[in-house]
Amino acid sequence: MADCIFCKIAKHELGSDSVYEDNEFLAFRDVNPAAPTHVLLIPKKHVSSLLDEGAEQKLLGKMMALVPRLAKELGLADDGFRVVINTGQEGGQTVDHLHIHILGGRALQWPPG
Ligand code: C5P
Repeated sequence: MADCIFCKIAKHELGSDSVYEDNEFLAFRDVNPAAPTHVLLIPKKHVSSLLDEGAEQKLLGKMMALVPRLAKELGLADDGFRVVINTGQEGGQTVDHLHIHILGGRALQWPPG
């Protein structure tokens, strides 16, 4: 997707504060963090949301398996963390490229707003 900001980040056409990268995925610090640690994990290929048919089992499985690894590397494993996938307008999705928020570093409130 030529105009997708996360595709541009994934291709390094736009900079990011990345914390993990492999052939399929990139994780980078959110530019507007909602917690002391706030990282976004994205697939490099364009998948618009959890509702996209591209969000298939294998891809989602790999992404979810990366989460605890990243959480440990980010120092979140001892105190805990939250994983969020905002989906669609009412779900609060503002960037139409699938991303997993990993949030931690403070006591998070529940329920979310
Ligand atoms: O779930 P949602 O779509 O709202 O999340 C998008 C996230 O992407 C926001 O937290 C926003 O701060 C982040 N973002 C970013 N870098 C950009 C554009 C958006 O980290 N260049």
